Amino acid sequence: MEWETIQEELDAGNVSIAAHQTRRMAEWFLREASDCLNAKVPFKANSRWILGDFYQGVVSRYKSLVKDAKDAANSWGIEDKFEHFVELDGRMTDINDRVSKDGAALNPNVHWNETESEFAHCTPAELKPAVKAYKDLYNALWCDECGSCLNIVQEGQTDVSMRCNCSTINWNLRKDN
Ligand SMILES: [Zn+2]
Repeated sequence: MEWETIQEELDAGNVSIAAHQTRRMAEWFLREASDCLNAKVPFKANSRWILGDFYQGVVSRYKSLVKDAKDAANSWGIEDKFEHFVELDGRMTDINDRVSKDGAALNPNVHWNETESEFAHCTPAELKPAVKAYKDLYNALWCDECGSCLNIVQEGQTDVSMRCNCSTINWNLRKDN
């Protein structure tokens, strides 16, 4: 598992390698999640997307879907599900804040030329929050049980549910009306 390898590099003090691997991992899983969630990614004729292109699309799509799930649970009067989605929403807000703040530590460690940055020579302890922020994002988007990415189920153009392959995660998006 990639996250374990990253942790090993961090523990060994190989900050640049750990930062590089985290970035590659994030590029892979956010690209995958963009597809599964049907997130909006800016079109690029040269197909040279960068991490930020996928990141913004995935986070805003997730936030919008969790809001739909919250509204649906509310419309059916399912209190515990409603609370669950409120919690997921708060968790994503927190992850987004940490990726913005701590995630900045990834770049200068991959590109050594940015020596003016305070992160350019950071220690494993300083890189850790960046790795954790991306790992938490991954965990929010992947099912623990079956290891699949959450994916959107649509009927025509309408989002009806968000689920993983084993259905341990299964958000109803359809409101009672
Ligand atoms: Zn699953």
